[in-house]
Amino acid sequence: MKIFVPNQTQSDETRVAMVPAAIKKIVSPVVQVLVERNAGVLSSHRDEAYVGAGAQIVGDDGWAAADVVLVVRAPAIEQARAMRSGAVLIGMLSPNKNLELLDALAQQGVSAMAMEYLPRITRAQAMDTLSSQANIAGYKAVILAAEKCPKIFPMLMTAAGTLQPVKVFVIGAGVAGLQAIATARRLGAVVTAYDVRPAVKEQVQSVGAKFMELPLETAGAQDAGGYAKELSPEQQARQREMMKKAIRESDVVITTAAIPGKPAPKLIPADAVGQMQPGSVIVDLAAETGGNCELTEPGKTIEKNGVTIIGILNVPATVPFHASQVYAANLAGMLKLMITKEGQLKIDTADEVIAGVLLCHGGAIVHPRMKELMAHV
Ligand code: NAD
Repeated sequence: MKIFVPNQTQSDETRVAMVPAAIKKIVSPVVQVLVERNAGVLSSHRDEAYVGAGAQIVGDDGWAAADVVLVVRAPAIEQARAMRSGAVLIGMLSPNKNLELLDALAQQGVSAMAMEYLPRITRAQAMDTLSSQANIAGYKAVILAAEKCPKIFPMLMTAAGTLQPVKVFVIGAGVAGLQAIATARRLGAVVTAYDVRPAVKEQVQSVGAKFMELPLETAGAQDAGGYAKELSPEQQARQREMMKKAIRESDVVITTAAIPGKPAPKLIPADAVGQMQPGSVIVDLAAETGGNCELTEPGKTIEKNGVTIIGILNVPATVPFHASQVYAANLAGMLKLMITKEGQLKIDTADEVIAGVLLCHGGAIVHPRMKELMAHV
């Protein structure tokens, strides 16, 4: 069994799919790990560390040699075409944005697995890349805000007077939002948070923030999978109005609100930004799906009337060492499900976790969501 970890640096990705510590646990007399030269260089892992962990350093010939290829993000089509029939590709493949790649993988006979589609069930927690990466993003959002904010976060009582703590408002308290709250609290900020799922209130309070109550009747705002459902246009408009005061009174607003498969809800209109104090900062972690703030420009940091709006993309890649460490642990969990003690690949399509992530298999698209999307192309 050969597992290949390619170099992703050509696609501006700083993370790597396997770190040396995780490889140590995978390598065995029947499992070989091939790592492309310099694959870990941007996440502070030298080739020598991979060799020390039992891996072999190779060139891009690993694509054709491997039984399993582990990536961070979707590969180029030529790389997919180099893979052999029956091989497995695992990564955050953004399948709905990569239909052409998916078609090529299916034609090639590759079994492709998209980690974004992992069912959020207890058994799969250790493999949950959305959570592992969102956790890092939530932390980094606060650091980015602190860096741009003209105030320090904690309260300071000094001989020169008292400095008031900054007020942080976190909108959306899923994995990223809860980590943002905890991080801002550790820096000494006073934190308020809101989420449309009422079930989140206790979690928000347990990490030290005040939960903002909005009379929005959101009792049915959570689906069976624990995700938020989209609010009606009227509810969204009411939410925007009711949050304006909290936004106006905050030094930092961190937004993470997302609805799976939908553009990010627009929760901060331009006029709410106009009412914020100069020096205030918005970090829009939903920039990837269009942004929660009407003025966010995905991929850019801009200033409007003295308010900084950070629309940074791929936030976990700005913390590549730890983001890669937890991502590698997630993928190691997937491999455990699929490789037998004898080093044979076993793709059990009846397993809920495998079926959840499997996009194409045996030369055909098998994922129901992908079949539906492909039918409309
Ligand atoms: P996400 O990234 O899909 O969304 C972020 C947050 O935005 C969510 O909390 C959502 O409720 C919120 N949101 C959506 N619309 C909003 C609006 N209009 N206003 C305010 N907030 C809004 O979420 P996530 O972080 O991926 O987590 C989704 C769910 O999955 C959560 O319930 C989480 O606890 C759950 N989860 C379960 C497991 C598990 O193993 N059981 C693991 C991880 C996450």
